[in-house]
Amino acid sequence: MKQAERSMPSHASMGQFSVEDGELQVGGIRLSRLAARVGQTPFYAYDRRLLTQRVRELRAVLPASLRLHYAMKANPMPAVVGHLVGLVDGIDVASGGELKVALDAGADAREISLAGPGKRHSELRQAVAAGILVNLESFREITELAAISQATGYPARVAVRVNPDFELKSSGMKMGGGAKQFGVDAEQVPELLAAIRHHGLTFEGFHLFAGSQNLKPEAIVEAQSKSFELALRLARSAPSAVRFLNLGGGFGIPYFPGEQRLDLQPIGENLALLAQRAVHELPEAELVVELGRYLVGEAGIYVARIVDRKVSRGQIFLVTDGGLHHHLSASGNFGQIIRKNYPVAIGNKMLTAARETASVVGPLCTPLDLLADRMELSEAEAGDLVVVFQSGAYGMTASPQAFLGHPPCLEVVV
Ligand SMILES: *Cc1c(COP(=O)(O)O)cnc(C)c1O
Repeated sequence: MKQAERSMPSHASMGQFSVEDGELQVGGIRLSRLAARVGQTPFYAYDRRLLTQRVRELRAVLPASLRLHYAMKANPMPAVVGHLVGLVDGIDVASGGELKVALDAGADAREISLAGPGKRHSELRQAVAAGILVNLESFREITELAAISQATGYPARVAVRVNPDFELKSSGMKMGGGAKQFGVDAEQVPELLAAIRHHGLTFEGFHLFAGSQNLKPEAIVEAQSKSFELALRLARSAPSAVRFLNLGGGFGIPYFPGEQRLDLQPIGENLALLAQRAVHELPEAELVVELGRYLVGEAGIYVARIVDRKVSRGQIFLVTDGGLHHHLSASGNFGQIIRKNYPVAIGNKMLTAARETASVVGPLCTPLDLLADRMELSEAEAGDLVVVFQSGAYGMTASPQAFLGHPPCLEVVV
């Protein structure tokens, strides 16, 4: 891998996969063989061992009492969720559909929570029947849950998702602070807590999620500390003791040239401090962090085959059978403001000396269908396999697969 790393100095993030005879290996299998095993390109492959390793590394720096949840919208493939269910302490779902996958995967209903604006009546009913925790995001959800609980006789377990009065600084995607569709504004929470008491719902805690894809430990530490303080203040108006305090996550992974891996040490130290304080200040509470991409993003690759090689006015285009319809994020169209290249390589020519500057594009009739914009790659031709790294999160299910009617891609866990 050393050689490959040398030839890709700008991307921090490919060293987790080994190379044998110039070919990338995933889960101990050579890429070309894996492609044959899958039976088609394009496909996503997720490395089981890397998923396990990431959770282990996290546990080593996070305080032992901290509960680690997987936010499964990052990668809801049932086999991935099934693997992680055995490693993490809980699963956070964002819909009735995800709830089904989590339960099918064997997740303990007591350790599942449901968040998201606009939970439909049917989803709330599913949640109550399953016995999972609902992170409340509006007053309407209280009255609906109370009615469902009354009609079914099952208790409605709730936490309050708080839209904090601060933001997660330097975050790729802000999801709290200011006016947001997520959660309930901190100022309205005392009134919401009174309504929970009035309707006899089972109050269990608070959920704060300030933002996503953050690579600055000091920003994450600040958001977690502020979330803790805010929860302490709000707990004074709570109908019963706080049992769960979900401090969110936001741990980012390096996607682009120049980005470094997140330094977990200061985050672990701060969480240890908060866990100690919780023993006295919120004695019945378990602290939770919920991570999506941090757990799965680096364990996954997207693989497409080169169909054509074209030169247009001096610029080389490698046209593949995959593109933005399977991997919107890598094309730069999933919320990115400035398009940057994900780490990309020719997976069956990792150590080839001959290099060239080429663009990797997909088959769609739009210039947005771009997987690599003028990158230095091994010289490639039709039949070679293009690999996009850092693709384990917000890949297939975050992409418009039906756009232009090309065949769907597959997913495998290796
Ligand atoms: C999407 C989401 C996450 C996961 O975000 P990542 O950036 O993938 O870690 C966690 N919590 C909530 C509430 C979310 O909506």
